[in-house]
Parts: sequence; C-alpha cells; structure tokens
Amino acid sequence: MSKHITHWIAGEAVPTAGAAPRRGDIYDPATGKVSGQVDFATITEVDAAVSAAVTAFADWRNASLAKRSTVLFRFRELLNERKDELASIIVSEHGKVHSDALGEIARGLEVVEYACGIPQLLKGGFTEQASTGIDVYSIRQPLGPVAIISPFNFPAMVPMWFFPIAIAAGNTVILKPSEKDPSAANFLAGLWAEAGLPAGVFNVVHGDKVSVDRLLEHPDVKSVSFVGSTPIARYVYETGTRYGKRVQALGGAKNHMLVLPDSDLDLAADAAINAGFGAAGERCMAISVLVAVEPIADELIEKIKSRMATLTVGPGCNGDSDMGPLVTGVHRDKVVSYLDSGVADGADLVVDGRKHPIAGEDSVDGFWLGPTLFDNVKPGMSVYNDEIFGPVLSVVRVNSYDEGLALINANPYGNGTAIFTNDGGAARRFQNEVEVGMVGINVPIPVPVSYYSFGGWKASLFGDLHAYGADGVQFFTRGKAVTQRWLDPSHGGINLGFPTNS
Ligand code: NAD
Repeated sequence: MSKHITHWIAGEAVPTAGAAPRRGDIYDPATGKVSGQVDFATITEVDAAVSAAVTAFADWRNASLAKRSTVLFRFRELLNERKDELASIIVSEHGKVHSDALGEIARGLEVVEYACGIPQLLKGGFTEQASTGIDVYSIRQPLGPVAIISPFNFPAMVPMWFFPIAIAAGNTVILKPSEKDPSAANFLAGLWAEAGLPAGVFNVVHGDKVSVDRLLEHPDVKSVSFVGSTPIARYVYETGTRYGKRVQALGGAKNHMLVLPDSDLDLAADAAINAGFGAAGERCMAISVLVAVEPIADELIEKIKSRMATLTVGPGCNGDSDMGPLVTGVHRDKVVSYLDSGVADGADLVVDGRKHPIAGEDSVDGFWLGPTLFDNVKPGMSVYNDEIFGPVLSVVRVNSYDEGLALINANPYGNGTAIFTNDGGAARRFQNEVEVGMVGINVPIPVPVSYYSFGGWKASLFGDLHAYGADGVQFFTRGKAVTQRWLDPSHGGINLGFPTNS
C-alpha cells in the first residue's frame, strides 16, 4: 500500500492545500520501487506552521522547567520503547542496515537525555553587591520559533541534534526534513504528542527549496539550524543572516584518516572499513580519504582489500547485511560516475564496487553499489576533490607525517579526521596542528558525545556555534543581564554620571 506523508502543524496532520499539490516520490532504495509520496509545502503551509509555533510559544516559554523536563523524560521513554519501529521506517526509506538505524537513534537519544537536564543547563550567574546595594545576575531565555532543516542521511539523529535542546529551552520548532526520507519526522512528531508536548511546539513541514526559502525569510522565525551539503549550507547561512536570524549551517565533508607506519595495521584496516563503508559511506563523518605514510601503504591496502571481500551488501532489513543500498538511483549513478572519472584521472581502481555481489531476492532494481577502493589518488582528481558521499575509499600515499598533515590542512573541508598511531607524541601534535573540528585518535568516526558539541571547521560549518552540548544551549537561548536594586530612600538624588561600582 502506498503511503502519503503530510505536514504536522499544531498537533495535526495537514496536507498541502489545492487541487494539484506538488509532491515527491519516496523510494525503497533496496527495491528501487516507489513506496509512497510526500507533500511539498507551499508558503501557505509554512506560514501556518510558523503561526502555530508563534501561538504555542506564548505558553511554552513560561512552562516551568519541571514541566518541560517531565515531557522530555516521557519522550525519551517512548522513543526507547519504539526505537525498533522507527529504525524500520528509516531502513525502508534511507536503505541503511537496521543496526545502523538503531545506532543513529541511540545517538539522538543521548541529546534528549542531555536536554532532560535543562534546569541545570539554564542556571545563570548571580553577583551580590556588585555595587553597594546592587546585585547583578544573568538569565538565558528562549528565542521563539526556530527552524531546523535536515539532510537525508540521518533522518532521526540530525533533527535530534537540535530539537530536544530547542524545546527544553522553551522554543517552538518547525522541522523541514529531507524529502527523500520524510516519515521519521512524522513518527517523532507523534511521539511528542503522546509525551504531552502542547500542540504547536513541534511542527513538521515537508518540501524543497520553496519551504526552506520561506523559513529563511519569515520574520517570525528566529533561528535556523541547517545540516546538508556545503553549497546549500552556505546559501542558508548567507540568506538567513541577511534576514537577521541566528544561523548555524553544517555542511559537507571530506574526512581524512592518517595512518602512521607505527600503527597497528589490523586496527587501522578495520577502522577504514567501518568508517569508509558503514551506511554505504553516506555519513558526514565517513572516512573517504586514507592517507598512508610509507612504507605501509601496500600492506594496509592488502588488509583492507581482503576485508572488503567479506562484506555482505544487501537490503538493510536483512539481519546479515553489512551495508545497504544508496539512497536514490540518481545518487547511485552520480557516485558510480566517480569510478570512471577516477580511472580517467589516473587513479588505480583496486576494488570495483560494481562487481560486488548483492544479496537478497528483491534486490535487482535497488540502488546498489558495493565498496570501492582507489589507490594512488592525488589532489586535483575529482575523486579526491569532491565529496562523493558513497562507498568509495581513496588512498593517498605520502612520505611523512608532515606531508599528511599539510594535505589535510589544505583541504577546504574540516569536519572530522583521525590519526592512527601508537606514538602519543605524534597524536598530541596532530590534535594540536590539524585544522579540523572533530579529531579521532585511533577512533575513526569521532562524533562527540552529547555533552560536548558537534561541528566542523572551514567549509564544513558556517556560523560559530556547533550543534548540541553547551553550544546547543547557547544557540537556542539568548542572554540577559539584570542589574537590580531594591529601593531604599538613601539612594535617591540626581546623578547624571555614568554608573560606576562603588
Ligand atoms: P542537501 O544539501 O541536498 O539537503 C539538505 C536539506 O536542504 C534538505 O532538507 C533539502 O530539502 C534542502 N535543500 C536541498 N536543496 C536546496 C536548495 N537549493 N535550497 C534550499 N534548500 C535545499 O543534503 P543531503 O543530500 O540531504 O545530505 C547530504 C549532505 O549533508 C552531505 O553533503 C553531508 O556531508 C551533509 N551532512 C553534513 C553533516 C554535518 O554535520 N556537517 C551531517 C549530515 C550530513
């Protein structure tokens, strides 16, 4: 049966108005078949969602911290109880394997749990007697309706990087998820309603550029949290800030893993496989470039090659699949085009993912590409320069740590990176010298836990505050400093001088 995904506004499912509303197809990537359609919002639906968020904000900003954290705790319990159901929805639209979908939900849950501590997180400072009889204190207040615009690759986790803290801090939310896998957002909206969140505090509008542009321009939307590709992140940052909004826009990545000759090569090979091919490489923290410091490249490539042959590529709902399909046929074709351009540019195609067997009876028309490995890749080749966002790992050979570091620092992206070594001094130099926002030391996908913050540098993030953790609390609140004096007659009198502390 074909599903029809509509918006979620003021606690109700709302379809796009009009006789012939614009809609997008939703695919099951493992079969290549259309499984349903999602409505695309017009300005009318976006405005209705913002209006619902404005109305709900009046009460929600004044809801006690105890009430807000009670709702968050309930949401956490519901999500935990129903995570398998949500994981199956993600698998059916994104294609990743079930265990990986559970993994993204777990990382989102971490942020929900962090936000449950909002009473502690919002505590301000207090200074008694800053001047005689005068106290000064700081408070943090919510912004109002906030927009979250998310990518296809983590339909549950990325929205949960933002909305638990936004809601806990007293804001109201309009989420615009990716049109490629829209159902997770509606599932989460249903859980919020069940958890007792008042209608209008969490709204979902589906769609494309039309809805994004309206959110960027709408005067009642106070901030925008965006995650997606770098060109759109830059556009969202420039447009949103032009309209006076607070914006954090997280962009694309090209993550390098530097392997020093003293490292444990088996550990490094396992890590390269996990971080290169997990979720078919459709992770912003995927490792796409392996920088091998000679003389270990040949040995490391052999170890990676033998592991690649053992990977089971098949439908995400099959328990024995290691890797699922790519999200759409268009994306798969684009990733495949890099296999040809890499060869044309002179790189060595060591393992061709087009030849990898695909498990599963229904899989013929799915959006498949097996794990692929290039050797002798160099800057300037399109496989090196572009974010491919697929199961394609490129090996660049260098002769020293310094050469590897210079390569990483010259890259326009700066999301994540990792060093593999047994030399603590080299690792410490790397964490100090590398120009990347998230660094792993013998850890290939260094996604920070929820009480730190997630964010890259350079073309991987526009804005200054990262996602979740302390930065998240700061992003979704604004500070106010209050100077108070309780009048006593001795403080009367006129004095036009600038207030000083005495
Ligand atoms: P995308 O940029 O195509 O889409 C992201 C969002 O922007 C979607 O909601 C989409 O509907 C909307 N959008 C698309 N085109 C638009 C336009 N022209 N104008 C306005 N809005 C538009 O990204 P994607 O393909 O969904 O996701 C993959 C990308 O996201 C990769 O580049 C990946 O690195 C990046 N990503 C980054 C992080 C991070 O933390 N830095 C995390 C996850 C994904």
